[in-house]
Amino acid sequence: LSKRCVSRSLPRQELENFKSYAGVRSIGPFHQCFSSVVGPNGSGKSNVTDAMLFVFGKRAKKLRLNRVSELIHKSDAVKDDPPSYARVSVFFQEIVDTSETEFEVVPGTEMVVSRVARTDNSSSYKLNGKTCQFKDVASYLSSKGIDLDNNRFLILQGEVEMISMMPPKGKNENDEGLLEYLEDIIGSNKFVE
Ligand code: ATP
Ligand code: MG
Repeated sequence: LSKRCVSRSLPRQELENFKSYAGVRSIGPFHQCFSSVVGPNGSGKSNVTDAMLFVFGKRAKKLRLNRVSELIHKSDAVKDDPPSYARVSVFFQEIVDTSETEFEVVPGTEMVVSRVARTDNSSSYKLNGKTCQFKDVASYLSSKGIDLDNNRFLILQGEVEMISMMPPKGKNENDEGLLEYLEDIIGSNKFVE
């Protein structure tokens, strides 16, 4: 195993009554390295990203809305029996590359993180089917190499521009330039002093 690379893949996500997605929808399987979402304007591409932001604990404002209850699917098709919650579940698994294009799933490494939003604007999390707090999700994912605190695994549209506009170095200790940004990602900011 020593020469083979173990990494984590996101085989699929499951949405239930989430934004434009009525009922239960499985999105995926995603490619282990690269996937792109393609579709006409307004077809629900950004809603797929919003589903990830929701499950990883982002507040309503980041998801282009004011309250989490707005995430619940609403349309003429369900007006007589509107759903009372929206759910997003994200599935992960560890994989080992066996060649340039092939991989094997490491048995027993599947994990699922879910978050539900309700009409009363409450929301809750589950980790592998068990109800928990966001901090439990964050620490579990962190132990698996997914760092929700520094959040560098999700780079959103506006952030690309923000990075490209950064000065090389911050003017003072509270200012952030590209140097401080990179030190934060690498983790070397701990040693600045
Ligand atoms: P663009 O190419 O313009 O960026 P997109 O594919 O990213 O489009 P999204 O923003 O993902 O589109 O989806 C927008 C659609 O989602 C809109 O038609 C909007 O009405 C719908 N939508 C958002 N919230 C809900 C909801 N709660 N219930 C039903 N539909 C919703
Ligand atoms: Mg969009």
